[in-house]
Amino acid sequence: MSVPFVKVVRTDQNTYAYDVNTNSILRVSPAIGSILEDYEAWTNPAYRQKHVKIVNEEQYHQAIAFIETQQSKHGFFLPSGLASIQPNLTVSDIQNEDVHVCTHLILNITDSCNFRCRYCVYSGNYPTRRTHSGRTMSWHTAQKAIDLLVKHGRRLDERVTLGFYGGEPLLRFGFIQQAVEHAKQALNGHPYLFSITTNASLLTDEMTNYLVEHRFVVTLSLDGPKTIHDSNRRFQNGRGTFERVIAGIQKLHQIGGDDYFRDYVNISAVLTPPYELGRLQAFFAPFPTSVRIATLEFRDDLYANMTLHRARGLERLCDLLKRYCVSRDRKHQDFRLVGLSLPYELLGRELKRIHRRTPDSRLGETAKVLGLCFPGRVRGFVDCSGDIYVCERVEGNENMKIGTVNDGIDERKVRNILEAVGRLDFSQCQRCWLVRMCRLCFAHLVENGRYSDKKWRFSCTGSQDHYSTALKLYCEILEEDETALDFVDAAPAQYPIHDM
Ligand code: SF4
Ligand code: SF4
Repeated sequence: MSVPFVKVVRTDQNTYAYDVNTNSILRVSPAIGSILEDYEAWTNPAYRQKHVKIVNEEQYHQAIAFIETQQSKHGFFLPSGLASIQPNLTVSDIQNEDVHVCTHLILNITDSCNFRCRYCVYSGNYPTRRTHSGRTMSWHTAQKAIDLLVKHGRRLDERVTLGFYGGEPLLRFGFIQQAVEHAKQALNGHPYLFSITTNASLLTDEMTNYLVEHRFVVTLSLDGPKTIHDSNRRFQNGRGTFERVIAGIQKLHQIGGDDYFRDYVNISAVLTPPYELGRLQAFFAPFPTSVRIATLEFRDDLYANMTLHRARGLERLCDLLKRYCVSRDRKHQDFRLVGLSLPYELLGRELKRIHRRTPDSRLGETAKVLGLCFPGRVRGFVDCSGDIYVCERVEGNENMKIGTVNDGIDERKVRNILEAVGRLDFSQCQRCWLVRMCRLCFAHLVENGRYSDKKWRFSCTGSQDHYSTALKLYCEILEEDETALDFVDAAPAQYPIHDM
């Protein structure tokens, strides 16, 4: 019995099957949906007898005949024909690429922080992560990193991005100014962008003016209303930090103005108990800027590995997004200005990816999975001592180290990383309905400094759950208005949904 390679989703009105082989979404009858969803089980007469209320014998035979006709005549509902799976990036992909260049460096200028957030990866609760300390980046190291960045940017004739990270980088505001001035001088008119990740508690008028003047992209953390935020994000003395963070956000808005606040400030909210997305949405709706929900690093014992899909209120957020997409008087394409930043950041990318797929493009025998960025080529994270890592999420992991500010990006190390990913067992992807949309990255595969099957499976389940929510929402939106998503900024699928 050949099991169809499909994902079934149900809305209140219809049943759909996403046919992985053809990349098509097909509207089907509820009986066909049930059978496609559990094909092997339905071919067992005992199972059918038990579920006769869902699909009776006559419906079953009609559905099977229909499925077989679709298989033979139109190529829908066929089993997975995948024989080999590769990661999206392999050693052969870097042959023609310049792997020695990196145009985005994030400098970890201090390991120290004025907060002691309970879930912080530097709290000492994570065995392979560094802890808070007085360690700082020397000027010599920062200078080397900036010079490397400028050299790479010039060589590729690309804009460079210089980021500041910590600990709390604003503890060293003078150092940031020194680094910015040095970068501007060395760049001598070459295009650049500065960014900073901060807890926003130390922002003074002077600092804010400086960040605004230099058009810094500011990512700051605010977990939600006071009770939620303060339960984890506290000063070293245990006091809550909510008021100080809000004061910092207000400063950025007042001094930067509406356009700066909308386009350059991002709020990151870590999902923590009571895991109520509706409450977070109500709180964040008045913030006219990007609001992203982040989940905590995978840990068996911390907050039970909460995923977005398991949080309460996801349906309400989907509903808000749907109502906006289908509303006739949709004035802005910008979700930030209509209080929908949080739902959009949660599901917008997935909706776009589903909408831009190319239906009727056959999958074939091989597929590429994951969404790995080119180590070193896209960005690098520089720790206080000048070692460069793939990104901040894998800092301190020796296997993810790709160079130093003294010697630049080490091609051998980049190759080692890609070879190690290439050796992973991708056989489960042959039957995964997300195989054409998978975007997992290094941080989703690595736990305690090593590739981990457990972490990988956890990430896969989270991603599958998330996309299944997005797929359902996609179908619901198009049920109300087939053109509702055509404003997304790339060619939409020509036939978003096939009627069967
Ligand atoms: S502000 Fe960031 S670095 Fe500081 S304790 Fe909180 S999570 Fe950790
Ligand atoms: S989600 Fe996991 S199983 Fe599915 S394609 Fe991606 S890596 Fe493979």
